[in-house]
Amino acid sequence: MNTTNTRTLNLNPSRWRNLGIIAHVDAGKTTLTERLLWKTGAIHRVGEVHDGAATTDFDPIEQRRGITIGAAAVQTHWTPQGQAEHRLTIIDTPGHIDFAIEVERSLRVLDGAVAVFSAVDGVQPQSESVWRQARRHGVPLIAFVNKMDRVGASFEQTLAQMRDKLDATPWAIGRPLGAESDLRGWVDLVARELVLWDEAGGIARRPWNDEETREHEPLRERLIEAVADHDDELAQAFLDARAIDSELLKAALRRGTLKGAGTPVLGGSAFKNKGVETLLDAIVDYLPSPLDRPMVTAQSEDGEVALAPDASGPLGGLVFKIVHQEHGALSFVRLYSGTLRVGDTVWASRRERAQRVGRLVVVQADHGRDVEVAYAGEIVAIQGWKDAVSGETLSGVERKLVLDTIQAQPAVLSWR
Ligand code: GDP
Repeated sequence: MNTTNTRTLNLNPSRWRNLGIIAHVDAGKTTLTERLLWKTGAIHRVGEVHDGAATTDFDPIEQRRGITIGAAAVQTHWTPQGQAEHRLTIIDTPGHIDFAIEVERSLRVLDGAVAVFSAVDGVQPQSESVWRQARRHGVPLIAFVNKMDRVGASFEQTLAQMRDKLDATPWAIGRPLGAESDLRGWVDLVARELVLWDEAGGIARRPWNDEETREHEPLRERLIEAVADHDDELAQAFLDARAIDSELLKAALRRGTLKGAGTPVLGGSAFKNKGVETLLDAIVDYLPSPLDRPMVTAQSEDGEVALAPDASGPLGGLVFKIVHQEHGALSFVRLYSGTLRVGDTVWASRRERAQRVGRLVVVQADHGRDVEVAYAGEIVAIQGWKDAVSGETLSGVERKLVLDTIQAQPAVLSWR
């Protein structure tokens, strides 16, 4: 492992993405999560979801049911072409309505989300409810139209359903090239490139040729007009008839996504490893870092406190998931402010007592890695708290904070 790199990255919260993946059951969330982990090198084997080998499904019962019961956080890294390495922490967000509190809590700790739709089934009821919940929490979203390889898949139809059923403003940042068994690639409207996919999961990119420019440029113009409706800078460039390069368009899309003005949409087939890199790039380009998000407000004895994403600020974190495993419980914490170190004693709001942090762990796919310290904006697990409860706030003993008022729930997951 390259420790220098890891350390540098740790000090760059602008290169962190804490994201969730939200979907209707069966849209392909598990498959997509697994493919993202595989592409980024966090796992080396891609199991079929239906044989129960998917990495985010920790619980055997869960594997049998084929649904994701609770949220765990898995960390990986991705370096988009021409950019620095970014750290992605994928928070598994339950899509099932029976776990409404868990959904609610996971939406609070992530900074952005990928909504997965099936290009065959379109926008289904559960996606609709989680989507609306995410919007209510002001979570910036991008959308991935999955299963483009299947007979009857329609990218356009899914966009139409996003408008009709979700009142969303989809910004298609590209178009699938080919469909069903002939799904060959992606027309990248932002970069003016064709992204060609091969059967082994590889990709090749090349600029549009003249004919393709004539064919795709009108779609790009439409995208620019739609985004410019919400972005003064882009609107001005458009009015001035200035050339709009990919960086300008990307920046406007990013601003619009953060404001919730629209949703960048892309597509592919998770199952066939098509479109996964494009999605990883889009996660880095359009979803926010912890620094981009509005400050979280906590209750203190002296009234409300806004928690700035600042490692030197007072400690404020939320325990959002307890996972039981062989070596003791893992309490997953989102740190909003301050720094948490091994050996620290912190105040735990629900148990109303001071508690020592014995061990800190970052989960990377199927294993944990010990860390000494975690900073504002990070997600980390505290190992070994026997009676930990989800929903409790961690803060300094001298400055007790409460972040979450949702009813506490007993832990349900186990983890090997
Ligand atoms: P989840 O319930 O949203 O986690 O969905 P899964 O990832 O378990 O996928 C549901 C089913 O759809 C599984 O049988 C997958 O193999 C299949 N599937 C997922 N993504 C794709 C895709 O892109 N194309 C095809 N053809 N099947 C897919």
